[in-house]
Amino acid sequence: MRLVFALIMTAALIGAAHAGDKRIALTFDDGPKPDGAFFTGAERTDRLLTALRVGGVEQAAFFITTKHLADETSIQRVRDYAGEGHVIANHSDRHEWLNRMTAEAYAADIDLAEKKLEEFENRRPWFRFPFLNEGKASEKRDAVRAALAERGLLSGYVTVDTYDWHMDRVVAKAKAGGHCIDIDGVGEIYVEMLVAAAEHFDQMARETLGRAPAQVMLLHENDLAAMFADDLAKGLRRAGWEVITADEAFADPIAEALPETLFSGMGRVAAFAYEAGWRADRLDHPASDEAAIEARFEAAGVLACEAL
Ligand SMILES: [Zn+2]
Repeated sequence: MRLVFALIMTAALIGAAHAGDKRIALTFDDGPKPDGAFFTGAERTDRLLTALRVGGVEQAAFFITTKHLADETSIQRVRDYAGEGHVIANHSDRHEWLNRMTAEAYAADIDLAEKKLEEFENRRPWFRFPFLNEGKASEKRDAVRAALAERGLLSGYVTVDTYDWHMDRVVAKAKAGGHCIDIDGVGEIYVEMLVAAAEHFDQMARETLGRAPAQVMLLHENDLAAMFADDLAKGLRRAGWEVITADEAFADPIAEALPETLFSGMGRVAAFAYEAGWRADRLDHPASDEAAIEARFEAAGVLACEAL
């Protein structure tokens, strides 16, 4: 009997550490963004699609800011994302802070974005709050939650918050300043910080939820993503992650679990951690910290090759 018990326990432990335990989907906000420091918008889309293909990312989610659908090229870029099997969802039209608008105006902006997205294939009924801002008052937050429910829209929450947008901004600034950039070194830091963020929120989920939900990583449709999305996928796998589809991630029970707290700016796992008593000292992470990101680039010297 003891042997059978030991075998069952061993099987359970192997199962617990098996692939499927750490699962993560990649999501890209704000596209189709205008030209960047390295690529035109159209070049960025081509490169990002190639990177996702090379990285074996079967289905990412693109949360579209529809004010960027300003010309045929931009519209075509979203068709291209959908055409390669990625899914398209709503990130509002104007990309405003909910706490600076009425719930009615906010819902109207969501509706306008839905209308502009109608023509695309592979759409999903998901809405991602710009700036992850769900308002500063529970009445307004609840009014927008009700508006989403009326429209059959699910919150396109994130669980792994990152400031990839700040990394992109810092590197773009260095390029504009004429600095020599060690782009491979930038890529290594990009991957290292984002994988560390995934680990951070994975640990947070295990400690506060008692389980490992499918994670949803927040990224942006920016030049660094176009350069390094394949390296990121590979880096995540090296760290034991399975890169899953956005559909699989948003099928996790956490999708239906709405936090009570108004602390929404770091995503859903952090919101539950906040409710469990976690504060900045445990919630914060270098990949969600502008000064830490700058310090990491600075220490590696990757944005000032001439100084080496
Ligand atoms: Zn955004």
